[in-house]
Amino acid sequence: MAYQKNSRISSPFVCPNFCTNSDALVLLAIMIGLSLTFFGLRCRAQEIAPGPPPRLAADRHADPKIAELIEGVSTDRIRETIGKLVSFQNRSTISSQDEESIKAGKGIGTAREWIKSEFERYAKDCGGCLEVKTDAFTEQPTDRIPKPTVITNVYAVLRGADPQQANRIVLVTGHYDSRNSDTLNGTDPAPGANDDASGAAVSLECARVLSKAASNHLRFPATIIFLTVAGEEQGLNGSKHFAQMAKEQGWKLEAVLNNDIVGGDRSPKQDASVVRVFSEGVPAAATEAEIKRIRMLGGESDSTSRELARYVADIGRSYDTGVKPLLVFRLDRFLRGGDHYSFNQQGFAAVRFTEFRENFNHQHQTPRSENGIEYGDLPKFVDYDYVAHVARLNAATLASLASAPAPPANVKMVTKNLDNDSTLTWDASTDASSYEVVWRSTSAPDWEYVQIITNGTRATLKVSKDNEIFAVRAVDAAGHRSLPTIPEPER
Ligand SMILES: [Zn+2]
Repeated sequence: MAYQKNSRISSPFVCPNFCTNSDALVLLAIMIGLSLTFFGLRCRAQEIAPGPPPRLAADRHADPKIAELIEGVSTDRIRETIGKLVSFQNRSTISSQDEESIKAGKGIGTAREWIKSEFERYAKDCGGCLEVKTDAFTEQPTDRIPKPTVITNVYAVLRGADPQQANRIVLVTGHYDSRNSDTLNGTDPAPGANDDASGAAVSLECARVLSKAASNHLRFPATIIFLTVAGEEQGLNGSKHFAQMAKEQGWKLEAVLNNDIVGGDRSPKQDASVVRVFSEGVPAAATEAEIKRIRMLGGESDSTSRELARYVADIGRSYDTGVKPLLVFRLDRFLRGGDHYSFNQQGFAAVRFTEFRENFNHQHQTPRSENGIEYGDLPKFVDYDYVAHVARLNAATLASLASAPAPPANVKMVTKNLDNDSTLTWDASTDASSYEVVWRSTSAPDWEYVQIITNGTRATLKVSKDNEIFAVRAVDAAGHRSLPTIPEPER
């Protein structure tokens, strides 16, 4: 396991750099026994150095209220949602959406109306805490869209409870359109149970449990948006339009969780204990100057999307969701894409959740049997418990991010003098009661060490910035952590 546990500097065993594994710890204990006074002094003298990494499981950042909230995710509700979406037969973006088809319960128009009515039902149940909205536009013909077609994204907004923080937004999405073997077929069955009724069901279920919690006992300072988009299979059209709108309107969109193919297809080699989390390395929206700095400072694995993926990993360690995030340091599966990319292109942090192993006989296939092989994206191949686990992981991530203070702004690494220490400064975040400077070796995939800063917005660590990657995150009184911010050099 490449991950190491974040260590607390408040640990009584605050040790020099060589204490990096359990053998060293045993050795250290013996040395302490032999030379307690000397070594005690030595440890105190270096109390800013990274401590010995204890086991990962000891560093859970769980909020009992969020742990309780995710218990509310229902496998049965998810099964019903997926079943309902599949019952509309063909949800291709180019399928029918006229009144008659909606009355007959067929086509993407029916799916759109039904999703809207679901969000409205949740809104009613939480005393109007959700605003239900649509983002509709006409897409002009492309190679996958034969004639001008109305594409409608449907979403619900749970507005932040703190007027000062409500402009911060976190978002979950899945696409509700489907397709069969022919991208241009809007009539024959295209069940899309896994791709991507499962992702739409995650977004809907998150809306249900989080709005319910918000109307009961939980207060989310930041805004949460539950989105379902169309047009994914025709060229990410829906997400592209939505992300552009977010950019044009200057949304402070901090995180996008895209769920696409999270059905946990029940094929023999599936691993239902993990969900892949894809994140871009070098940001799609990076300017030339930013790319230059990334090259210069070795920031290839520290895009905001990558930090979001690490945040999801932390949530996976902190809560019993039933599934563990498996971080994949790549935009998406090999040569393939999804809606998170639309958000990446507009400069937003966005990651993709996808089951561990896809079965290509069960996606983008017209349902049929050939040579004893069953093709089609059918409900019977979906593992509903798995979808519920993925929904819990999403819900815990959204709740944590929306509860946390804003990420620290204006984070700087002071580089006026050449030295072997690392000094960081940052601006205070509203509602932060402390900060954490986290760092890791340049070759480590995830944060390894932490220094808690309870006083002020500046820290000097006796660790060389040449050898480590640093970030700062804000923590509120209840222990909710923000996304970390990578420092920019200050000369
Ligand atoms: Zn998909």
